[in-house]
This record gives sequence, structure tokens and C-alpha cells, in this order.
Amino acid sequence: MKSLILTALFLMAPSVFSQHLEGVLTQVYGDPQADSQDARINYYLNSNDRSWRLDISQTKLSQQSIRSLLNQPVQVIIDDDQQIYSDQSLISVLSIEPDLSRSGLAPKAVILGTKPWVSVLCKFKDRSNETEPLNYFQNMYANLPAGLDHYWREVSYDQINVVGSNAYDWVTLPKNRDEYLDVNNDPDLSQMFDDCIAAVDALVDFSDNGFGQAYEGINMMFNDTFGCCAWGGGRYETLDGLSKLWRVTWNPPWAIHKQGTIAHEMGHGFGLPHANNSDGDSNPYDSPWDVMSSSGGYSVNDPVYGLLGKHINMSYKYNLGWVTDAVGYIANPSSQQIVTLEYTAKASSPHPRFIRIPLNDGTNYFVEARKKVGNYEANLPGNAVIVHHVDWNRNEPAWVVDGDNPPANYADTEGVMWKVGETFYDARDGYQVSVLAVTTDGFQIQINGPYGLPDLIFADGFESP
Ligand SMILES: [Zn+2]
Repeated sequence: MKSLILTALFLMAPSVFSQHLEGVLTQVYGDPQADSQDARINYYLNSNDRSWRLDISQTKLSQQSIRSLLNQPVQVIIDDDQQIYSDQSLISVLSIEPDLSRSGLAPKAVILGTKPWVSVLCKFKDRSNETEPLNYFQNMYANLPAGLDHYWREVSYDQINVVGSNAYDWVTLPKNRDEYLDVNNDPDLSQMFDDCIAAVDALVDFSDNGFGQAYEGINMMFNDTFGCCAWGGGRYETLDGLSKLWRVTWNPPWAIHKQGTIAHEMGHGFGLPHANNSDGDSNPYDSPWDVMSSSGGYSVNDPVYGLLGKHINMSYKYNLGWVTDAVGYIANPSSQQIVTLEYTAKASSPHPRFIRIPLNDGTNYFVEARKKVGNYEANLPGNAVIVHHVDWNRNEPAWVVDGDNPPANYADTEGVMWKVGETFYDARDGYQVSVLAVTTDGFQIQINGPYGLPDLIFADGFESP
């Protein structure tokens, strides 16, 4: 693999040129322990030399544009006057452009097949406790209920597994805990990654998990908190001679004891953003219907691994390639169709798993059935049809639709649960989704497009659900 080089620049003297840096753009989400706190998003430029954290607030890039650049080789343009020091942690960026000279590095959004992860357990130099013994972390990957292999197989309908994952015993970092935190109590995730990987490198071959496959991701487990959050995302790095995007998480003890959070961070590693409700606030942790929102809300509690992950909304599964239009019903403006929708957690389904409603503005609704059943969904707020409006130009593309006005602060209310006799009236394009009946494995749904509406609806006018 050709090495990526930081071109131009940086020394102590200001440059008279437009400065640019080259590398791979990655994103890492920070999730606080309490769902009431806001999420954090860090951006990094990864080169083989180091990883720079970027302040992209001046770029005015849309979410769509940022997403199109993630995990790709890019050129980052910075202010002429900005001096960049070798130990600088945050670089202010004017614009980001794809580096067309370095194509072919980007992973696809689709995630399919065997994706082994490795857990590396790192103790801060001044903290000797070991949060859990090695076998706790090894068994965390089991193909048994609560185990991550079992979990990812279920939520992906066996489209992915984490067979070949492993964990390695505790090693000690070269620095004390507080040395990784800045004055704002924010962690230097790059330094933590570098030091943790260096500490285990003699034990782990990241390029070969023992079964001839490189690890897909790295779950870093730490023995104390490091600021607000657990973190998950991507990092481009050369490890054991292999240069690629590694899916990476940074986990404090509270996350280690909550499988739903580990699943959430691995979800960020797989490229998933947050899901959300529709209340319009800045907090993305207020939908209990998605592990990528409230990761522990209405979760099944396992005596060993804590609050477990739930399913992921259908639009994200669609984006990862775990469901396709072939297993859904795709509505159109002339639709006048009764669909038997099977509940999300069902392993195999003779009926559609979802209804996708493409809208004129390029966004979609995804309609799915949820049932309080099984290892991961048994504690959901109810058995109901759930509708997500999905706009990939938002920070959190999938928002649970709420029939109440104003929408609830937390989406466990009747307003988000569409039940027999209720109709969701779409105000954008005029679709109607009516829940006709409960079936053995889901709900019977009537979907009418704006040109497929029965005449009597127009004659009688609209009624509220
Ligand atoms: Zn998150």
C-alpha cells in the first residue's frame, strides 16, 4: 500500500500558499453515559504519520457532502495564516475535497459476511484494576443470546457475523489517565489508540486473526472513564503491515457493562449514524426503537452483559445491504395495496419486512412492525407499527414519526405506535398508512398513494387517527 503523505507545510512559519493536508477522512461519535446529554462528533484526517482532529464548522459542507467524503482520501484546505504544529490536536479547516488521485480506498456502505473484531484491554498507568477478566471479553463475542455474534446475526438476518473475533489480556498504557485528557476533560482519542495498540502489538496480529482474515474492527476497553463518553467510528492506519480503514471503539467500564452500548459503538464503526425521534431537540438518544438512538432504553437486561442492544431501523439495515427492496413493499403514488408486514425481529419472513415510501423530495418513509419478543426486543414499549422518515441530509437520518403534536420528548408514547384502527396521514406527498389488523407475526397494513386513495376518503374528508 502506498503511503499517504502530509504534503505542504506545517512547521512553525506561516505559509504564503494555500495550505493543504492529505489523508483519509474519518468520523468518530462520542456517546455520554446518560441519554440526556448531547452527542459528540469528531472528524479526523488520518495519514500514516498521524491522525489530526479537524474542526470542520467553517466548511459549510452539508451532511450529504460530508458523508460522501467519509473514509475516502481527501485534501483538506486550511487557512494560509493558520500555523500547524507537529503536536497540534485540532486543525481548523476551510474546505474538504475528494483526492481523486487516490481512488479505490473507500469501503462500501454495504457490510456483509464475516467481520471479526478484536478486543484489546488497556489499563491506564495509574489505574491497576481490571474491569473484568479476559474470559468476560472473549465470551462477549459468543453466538449465544446476549453475545455479540448472536446479536449481529439476528439484527442483520444472518447477513453478517463476527466469527473469528477474539480478546487479549490486559496491558498497561505508558501514561496516567489524566494525561490523555485536555483542560476540557476531552480525551485525545488518537493518543489513546496509538498507545493501546502499541501496548498490545506484540500479542496481536491485526492483519490475521488466526483464521486467515484481518480483523475488521478493534474494540478498545479501558479500565476507567476518560471524559464524557464511549466513542465509535473509523480510523485509517497501518497495523502489522496492513493499511486500511479499521472500525474502532473506545469504551469505559460503564460501556463494558452494557452490551447495548458496545453494539451502538460497533454500529458507528460499521458506519451507522444516530437514529432519532421527531422532537427537534439536539439530543439523538430519545428513541427506544433503535440501538443507534437510546441504546439501553426499553432493553432486555442480561445478568452478565447488562442492557442489550435492540434492532436497528429498517432504513439503516437497507443502507448496509441487510434488507433490499426484494424483501419489502415499495409504494408508489398509485398504490392501493394491503400488505402483511412481519415483525422486525423475525428470523425469516414469507411476507414483506418493511414498506418503503419514496417521496418527491428524495427522502423516504420506512414502515416496520415491532413486537415485544425474543432476546433483544422483549421489553419494547409496545407491539406496533413504527414509521421512520429518513433524510440522509440530517445528522440523524432516521426520525421516528410521531402522530402527536408536539412530538413527545421520548418516543415511547402512543403517538409513535400505530395500532389497529389508526392511520398515518403523510403531510408531504399525501400517502396514507392504515393498520387494519394484528396478524400472527405482525400487522396487516393498507397503503394508499395520493393517486390510489379511495373516492370515499375525498367525499368524507380526512379524519384524525
Ligand atoms: Zn452514538
